Amino acid sequence: MAIDFTLSSEQRALQASARAFAQEVLAPVVREADAETDPLAAFQRTKEAYVAAYRAGIAFCMLPKKYGGGGLSNVELILAAEEICAVDPGFACTILVNGLGLLPVWYWGSEEQQERFLRPATSDPSGEYLVGYAVSEPAGSPGGTANFDTPEPAPVGIGVTATLDGDSYVLNGRKYWPCNVAGWDGKGANASIVVVRTDPSKGGTEGLSAIMIERGTPGVSYRLISKMGHRLTPNAEIVFDNARVPANNLIEGTRGNGDLLINRNFAWSGPVAGIAAVGVARSAYEAALDWARTYTAGGPSPIINHQYVGYVLGDVAAQIEACRYLCWKTAHFLDRHDYHGELIGAMCKIHCTEALFASVYKCLQVVGVNSLDTRHNFEKLLREAAVFPLYDAGNFGMQRRRVHGVMASPDFNPRALMDDEFVPFTKQMEEIDTVPGYAETPLPTQRAKPARAPTKV
Ligand SMILES: Cc1cc2nc3c(=O)[nH]c(=O)nc-3n(C[C@H](O)[C@H](O)[C@H](O)COP(=O)(O)OP(=O)(O)OC[C@H]3O[C@@H](n4cnc5c(N)ncnc54)[C@H](O)[C@@H]3O)c2cc1C
Repeated sequence: MAIDFTLSSEQRALQASARAFAQEVLAPVVREADAETDPLAAFQRTKEAYVAAYRAGIAFCMLPKKYGGGGLSNVELILAAEEICAVDPGFACTILVNGLGLLPVWYWGSEEQQERFLRPATSDPSGEYLVGYAVSEPAGSPGGTANFDTPEPAPVGIGVTATLDGDSYVLNGRKYWPCNVAGWDGKGANASIVVVRTDPSKGGTEGLSAIMIERGTPGVSYRLISKMGHRLTPNAEIVFDNARVPANNLIEGTRGNGDLLINRNFAWSGPVAGIAAVGVARSAYEAALDWARTYTAGGPSPIINHQYVGYVLGDVAAQIEACRYLCWKTAHFLDRHDYHGELIGAMCKIHCTEALFASVYKCLQVVGVNSLDTRHNFEKLLREAAVFPLYDAGNFGMQRRRVHGVMASPDFNPRALMDDEFVPFTKQMEEIDTVPGYAETPLPTQRAKPARAPTKV
């Protein structure tokens, strides 16, 4: 993309086909699925649309053509994603997680692992193939998903352990929140990548790796989580109870580098989450504008003629435009720099999701109390928008820490993004802010200072 925001005819066609899919296939199932109280039943209501997405090449559009994927660039991916997210971001999240589960195999897997895990995903005759991505763990102390790169050993940070025993790894512990992992029947996705502690005696920048678990692995069970937004995508708790996984399922290049996998994955998903927020805010804005043009609230003409209503909607529209172009820029950066964008991906995700949550709420204020009536779509849009700053690596911990870690490096070039220069991301930039407020004499609420300094920068 040169500095020209005109889409090519191929990009327009892609956008149009994603829009048609979203409106004709997805939209009819959204309302009932969202109202479904059982989270597994809600997900199952999307199955027909998912299979249609699979057959249309959407479900694995992010994988390279070499392995049967759609070979979309990151810019193309987010053009399509905006259209789906404008209708339902939960459904889009299911597809996003297929990418989070398999892109690391493409980045770091051996040729044999790429064939073994990528090919089946793109050649499933049933069209139901699902992939999970499991990092997050249950709340509770010590815990600490947001501090996965902590310098402290297990159980701080990532607690699920994988112990080598002969030609298998034996997994123990619990994950909480991962998408897709439970599959269509609550018994397992076709495959899931799981970040585990392969060396519990080491901190998060040395002791983590990623291993693929396949459906039917004994010792793995799932429980679906009911949540307030993104109800069409399935989040689950996973319990590993001496689950035995072939040792050659450990993705080669991730050995001791699970931390870098997490950061690169969330760099890739930064503009996807950002554009999801754009899609939802766009729906809220269009609906609020429509309301304002037709509702008079007892006055002589529709409320759009009140100056304040017009100003607010103008601000919202500007915010949506600005965020959309930041997402395009970020996706373009990932395309140009080998899917690395640890800094800009985090900035994009933080900025768009927070600015657009505020914009969606402004749309509700324009509409007024009627926006709270569940007969209208605004309450769903607010629930969906509330998810964005919290999921896909929370903005407060994981995302802002990544920005801080890069900026605190003495080599950081503040003009790198402007000049489209590669921004290195190294282990020396991790661990930052993971251990708050050291004191020589620890307060009762503080653990003892770890042997290593909390940051390497
Ligand atoms: C729809 C949806 C889909 C998801 N999909 C997946 C998935 O596919 N796979 C997966 O593994 N997870 C998934 N998650 C979980 C998600 O990625 C979370 O971002 C992740 O679990 C981290 O949560 P957290 O940031 O709240 O971390 P926590 O560790 O629970 O931290 C909680 C809070 O503590 C504070 N905090 C903690 N540490 C720091 C710090 N160092 N500095 C400042 N503040 C700090 C922050 O306020 C932070 O928000 C999903 C969640 C949702 C809702």
